Amino acid sequence: MADEQAELERLRVEAATRATIERELIARFAVEDDALRASVARAEREGLPAIQISPLQGKLLQVLALAANARKILEIGALAGYSGTWLARGLAPGGKLITLEVSAKHAAVVRDTFAAAGVADRCEVRVGPALESLPTLASEAPFDLIFIDADKGAYPAYLDWAITLSRPGTIIVADNVIRFGKAFLTPPPDENAAGAAAYNAKLVAEPRLVSVAFPMDDDGMDGFAISVVRSTT
Ligand code: SAM
Repeated sequence: MADEQAELERLRVEAATRATIERELIARFAVEDDALRASVARAEREGLPAIQISPLQGKLLQVLALAANARKILEIGALAGYSGTWLARGLAPGGKLITLEVSAKHAAVVRDTFAAAGVADRCEVRVGPALESLPTLASEAPFDLIFIDADKGAYPAYLDWAITLSRPGTIIVADNVIRFGKAFLTPPPDENAAGAAAYNAKLVAEPRLVSVAFPMDDDGMDGFAISVVRSTT
């Protein structure tokens, strides 16, 4: 009993420390401005789920876009435009973000977010199931950065499309590839974990990519996979 109490206390302190570290990193490296905060508030007002990426993830996307000197960015899964705003802020001058969203209601919120953030001139939301929109993008490819953050079951198919729409050097980022560790169970316990597991397996086996994955979200229980396209053939 005493051991159990001690273990619970250790876990509580560990969780509190992780939360403090996250908060301090955000306060230093990923402070949300009015537009980003308004995007989260708008989503809540409109009844959208609060499943956007974290501020540090957003900042990482911006850093990656700037490092790639990205002129063309593709996002799969827009929600309310939170990650899209971070991405748009990483575009090179004259660049463009295309974001794919299945829900017309979400897309309307995204457009409001982009307008309020002052990035509507460089961002376009395309409404429809991503697997129907992706084949229409060939003439606008290659993209410099592609961010995958929609229905997890389709992640392996999104990866195939991402490579098709890439050039050597394109960065492909996917969110939610850990899923509280469920992506590492055999068999994965649900459809989302199965999608993430299949995505991870594809990344590791794919000779056209160099990839890494790591915990990165509010509590370190989920995370990003980041790949660089070595070759598209
Ligand atoms: N990237 C957003 C952010 O961080 O601000 C969060 C995206 S949210 C996790 C997933 C979004 O993908 C939802 O808005 C959902 O409607 C959309 N989505 C789900 N299935 C989709 C599909 N088949 N095609 C396009 N979008 C889809």
